[in-house]
Amino acid sequence: MPTSTERAFIALGSNIGDRRAHLAYARSRLGALPETRLVGVSRVEETAPVGPVAQPPYLNQMVLLDTALDPADLLRHCRAIEAERGRERRGGERWGPRTLDLDIVRYGAKTVKTPELTIPHPELPNRDFWQREIAELEGTHG
Ligand code: ADP
Ligand code: MG
Repeated sequence: MPTSTERAFIALGSNIGDRRAHLAYARSRLGALPETRLVGVSRVEETAPVGPVAQPPYLNQMVLLDTALDPADLLRHCRAIEAERGRERRGGERWGPRTLDLDIVRYGAKTVKTPELTIPHPELPNRDFWQREIAELEGTHG
């Protein structure tokens, strides 16, 4: 019996250093994960930062994966990829500037609510660019 896979949307964001290189690194690492295939990538969009911290603009891109990894394993890999790009979490501060941020926006039709992981990502309703990027990928790879 073939392993069952789910379609996962991963949002990439970067606002420090060579932003395009950080996104490219994330795309290639995600596509090379075990039991995972990179199905498609959205256009890259630049957005103004949100939240309380003054910081440079972000480059964003959505990636669509077909994966047999479960959400917790996917999160572990995402954190490892962020760390490989020298991501620092300053004093536990959220929303701050970062070389690379990987957020699991959707995982099939699944809902997850643990201390570590909320899926769909709670910011999805507030981020028009995420919704645009998902629509673009669904249009191309529906
Ligand atoms: P943010 O992305 O909110 O600015 P971080 O990237 O520092 O902040 O994420 C902090 C933590 O958020 C992660 O280590 C992870 O445990 C948690 N988290 C909860 N839901 C998700 C999700 N859907 N995708 C990624 N991380 C998530
Ligand atoms: Mg994050």
